Amino acid sequence: MNRVRLVIFNAALGPLDYRVPEGMEVEPGSVVVAPLGPRQIVGIVWEAERLPATPVPDARLRPLVGMLPVPPLKAELRRLIEWTADYYCASLASVARMVLSSGGALRGPSTVTEYRLSGGLPERMTPQRQAAIDALEGEQATIRELAEIAGVSEGVLRGLVNQGVLEPVTVHSDRPYARADAGFAQPDLSAEQTEVAEHLVAAVRDDRFVPFLLDGVTGSGKTETYFEAIAESLWKGRQTLVLLPEIALTEAFLRRFEERFGSAPVAWHSSLKSTERRRAWRAIASGEAQVVVGARSALFLPYARLGLIVVDEAHEVSFKQDEGVRYNARDVAVMRARFEGIPVILSSATPALESLQMAESGVYEKLVLPSRFGGAELPAIDTIDLTREKPPRGRWLAPRLVEALQERLERGEQSLLFLNRRGYAPLTLCRHCGFRFQCPNCSAWLVEHRLSRRLACHHCGHETAPPDHCPECGEPDCLVACGPGVERIAHEVEELLPEARLAIATSDTLNSPDKAAEFVSQVEARAVDVIVGTQLVTKGFHFPELTLVGVVDADLGLEGGDLRAAERTYQQIAQVAGRAGRGSKPGDVLIQTRHPQASVIAALAAGDRDAFYTVETEARRHAGAPPFGRWAAIIVSSEDEAEAREAANRIGATQPTLPDVAVLGPAPAPMALLRGRYRYRLLLNARRSAELQRVIRDWLGALSFQQGVRVGVDIDPYSFV
Ligand code: ADP
Ligand code: ZN
Repeated sequence: MNRVRLVIFNAALGPLDYRVPEGMEVEPGSVVVAPLGPRQIVGIVWEAERLPATPVPDARLRPLVGMLPVPPLKAELRRLIEWTADYYCASLASVARMVLSSGGALRGPSTVTEYRLSGGLPERMTPQRQAAIDALEGEQATIRELAEIAGVSEGVLRGLVNQGVLEPVTVHSDRPYARADAGFAQPDLSAEQTEVAEHLVAAVRDDRFVPFLLDGVTGSGKTETYFEAIAESLWKGRQTLVLLPEIALTEAFLRRFEERFGSAPVAWHSSLKSTERRRAWRAIASGEAQVVVGARSALFLPYARLGLIVVDEAHEVSFKQDEGVRYNARDVAVMRARFEGIPVILSSATPALESLQMAESGVYEKLVLPSRFGGAELPAIDTIDLTREKPPRGRWLAPRLVEALQERLERGEQSLLFLNRRGYAPLTLCRHCGFRFQCPNCSAWLVEHRLSRRLACHHCGHETAPPDHCPECGEPDCLVACGPGVERIAHEVEELLPEARLAIATSDTLNSPDKAAEFVSQVEARAVDVIVGTQLVTKGFHFPELTLVGVVDADLGLEGGDLRAAERTYQQIAQVAGRAGRGSKPGDVLIQTRHPQASVIAALAAGDRDAFYTVETEARRHAGAPPFGRWAAIIVSSEDEAEAREAANRIGATQPTLPDVAVLGPAPAPMALLRGRYRYRLLLNARRSAELQRVIRDWLGALSFQQGVRVGVDIDPYSFV
């Protein structure tokens, strides 16, 4: 093979052909370096017949520059890349880039110099140096990473290196991980669990593609049960991937894994240091990493011997990526298992309607764990009708909920208040002139964060200090906070129950695995009486002393008018309710709502999941929504409002007329301005049978847009902003 076709890492260019120089041997999947103009780029050798041909004659081909020291990507992974690009209307390059997601790993094994505190002190201590030294206690990383951690310049740290305050440590990029032991601490499974585990284990043993829906109530031992499948995969010398929705959960999971298998698994998420990332990537590609626990991006890594995939909390919305390649990791996980010919387990107490439907139609094999382990009972759920049982003015907790909190406090038990809103208040306005604080880059209010004294945009990260007078009318001390966020609820609890020890759990407070671990151990040590948290606390945590869950505003998620609003509300509240009464003491759940009769709330109160799913299924069928019909969105954006509008209108004007595809829009997006870009949306609703992706590709492929215009396609969208 002398002429090769590459998928190159440039989404704007298609595949390119090159000549393989004398003495170099490549095969499909080889990761190579090729010349492009005056530069060099990375590419992957692909089966030429699977890509569009290029017209360059043999004689004019440029030779490849070299090969990178990583194993070739396997055929199964190449097929997954093709499928993902095709299904989500993305370029092969943008999907392939998610596979080669550690630049360092591609350079092969090597050593890296990291630094840590030596214990020595600088000749001259400055406040800045002192702060840096305090921040770096217990850390070891590259200078650049340490500078980030300490919030100082690299120059400051280099100064400390010169004075011996920071000492170098040589780290080998490929040092091995501790081995997991399949038989380390085998639990005695209940009869129910054993039966489920046997199905899972058999599929791993036989190396068969089986998509399982592991449907078990919270606390039924789903994790314990799928650990048996992981053990089987370990016995066989195969790799396992466990996808988790939230980084905050990883720490608790890692610990639990270690208790079962004697050592921690390999973690993969966005806050890994570059050396850790590189080490994990290389161990995954060599097959040395036995079990990988990661966020959705772990799905595209080049596993050498994958034998099992688990998607934990598979209903979670965070498996859907809303930028770049807009894929759903839950669905791609099933495809990856199919290409690899291995089982995949979707585990959830509140499966997505789409997943239940797949089980119903026999595509997925459903395994059920109907009761909590060890005789623990599901919590008793009651609603508080806020139109009758009103909280006092300026407060958000109804008297009955406050009494319940008080009772728990007296008994030394723990409570959890759930409100899916970070910060103190979602809107700040001027009492004098009505001015509202809005983000300059987004169609969104600035959220007050009182603890960190800032007004912040939750979409673009814009921040400003709260001013002491209104920027519009100049009136001093006139700003009022409107509505509650978790900080405000925590404040209310503080005033009502001053002796209660509080913890706020949100992505602001638990923003690293270390902080999440600290939070868990505080709660476990019973150093916390009341947790106030966002959706971050709805899942994964197992706190035996937690016996009360209060849902502060069950109606919040039902507002937006999004297709899955009811389902998401059901899942969130059912999950957070599942945190109560997991130990020997029974739990209570109180749901504050203005609509106790709404079908979601009524089903939650009655503990009747089937009732909710039946109503919801009919609503979806009626609307032609998934899983009965399909949706896709086209999102047009530009920094120039007129340019965005013009592009959107042109897309609208050239829409194909097809009997089985309806096009809505273009219209300004609900989030008409996001991160400084003006946005328009079109929404497509199609019958299941429609070749939606081909229609979109042909339609958009025939148009060209100005430089500054971005046109994104979102297949099976979860976000409608
Ligand atoms: P789920 O994943 O369904 O929420 P878990 O696997 O977290 O349930 O189990 C809930 C709790 O019960 C955990 O503390 C777990 O360790 C314990 N547990 C479940 N099954 C067993 C078992 N067979 N033996 C011992 N403990 C178990
Ligand atoms: Zn913003």
